Amino acid sequence: MGDTLFTKIINKEIPADIVYEDELCFAIKDIKPQAPVHLLLISRKPLDRLSNATPEDQALLGHMLLAVGKITRQLKIDDAFRLTVNNGAQAGQSVFHLHMHILAGRPLRWPPG
Ligand code: AMP
Repeated sequence: MGDTLFTKIINKEIPADIVYEDELCFAIKDIKPQAPVHLLLISRKPLDRLSNATPEDQALLGHMLLAVGKITRQLKIDDAFRLTVNNGAQAGQSVFHLHMHILAGRPLRWPPG
């Protein structure tokens, strides 16, 4: 399998607005934002989807959730944001490389569409 879109972004082969980076993950602004703040927190490891994570990924997944806290506090959106993982094409996943959507800056209805 070739590099994913997100691997190309972290390798700087495709431009993106990188707003956070550490040893296990990085965050970019979504190119088609669905809210005033719409970030993608992406694992450096190109795991294709959350449901294929294994116990080996436990530290990575915990690390990413803590990074969400760090990023949302930095942006002062920690009082109101939504974290979404689309898992599988039927659930809206279009890039098969683990990522979490962080959405904020507008009222977020429930249930989501
Ligand atoms: P998903 O549909 O859950 O797989 O999310 C993939 C997201 O990647 C979508 O919200 C797209 O708008 C976003 N996206 C696709 N290409 C790019 C890009 N080059 N830079 C930033 N975001 C992108």
